[in-house]
Amino acid sequence: MSLFTLMLNIAVMLIGVYLWKLGWITLSEGKTLWVLFIEIIAIILVMDLLMYIFHYLVHHPFIYKVLHRKHHEHVSTNYLSLFVLHPLETLGFGLMMLFVFMWYDFSIFSITIYLFVNLIWGTIGHLNREFFPKWSEKLFLGTTKFHNQHHLNEQRNFGFYTSIWDRLFSTYKV
Ligand SMILES: [Zn+2]
Ligand SMILES: [Zn+2]
Repeated sequence: MSLFTLMLNIAVMLIGVYLWKLGWITLSEGKTLWVLFIEIIAIILVMDLLMYIFHYLVHHPFIYKVLHRKHHEHVSTNYLSLFVLHPLETLGFGLMMLFVFMWYDFSIFSITIYLFVNLIWGTIGHLNREFFPKWSEKLFLGTTKFHNQHHLNEQRNFGFYTSIWDRLFSTYKV
C-alpha cells in the first residue's frame, strides 16, 4: 500500500509538470531569501488549513469507512503510517497542493523545501515517541504527540503542521 502511495505521488508530480507545461503553473526565479521564507510559511499555512478541512471531511462516518479507516488501523503509528492512505486521499492531497501552486508564482525553491518539510513532518508526526521539544507546542507546531492524539481520539487534532486551525475551530487536544 505504501508503495502504491509512492507511485501515486509520482503521478501527481507528473500532473504538476504537465500543468507547468500548459502554463497553468508558473514558477518564478530570482527571489530574495526573505521572500522564499515567507512563501514557504504561506504554503505550509494554506496547506495546513486545506488539509484540516479535507481531514475533517474524511472523518464523516460514511466517507471514513471508505477512505480513511485504513490509516486509522495504525493506532500505534510508525514511520510507514504516513503512506498508509487510500489512493483517493493521496490524490486529494496532491491535487489540492497543485491547486495552491496554480494561484501564485511560487519559487521552485519554496516548493522543493515545502515538499521536503512535508515528508519529514509526516514521518516524524507518525513516530511513536515525541521528537519535538516541549516548548514547540507553545509555537502551535503540530508535534508528534499532537498527531498521535488524533490516532487515539479521532475527533481531535485534524491539523498537521500546526495546531492553529484546531485551536481556532475548537478541536484541539493536548
Ligand atoms: Zn496519521
Ligand atoms: Zn484521521
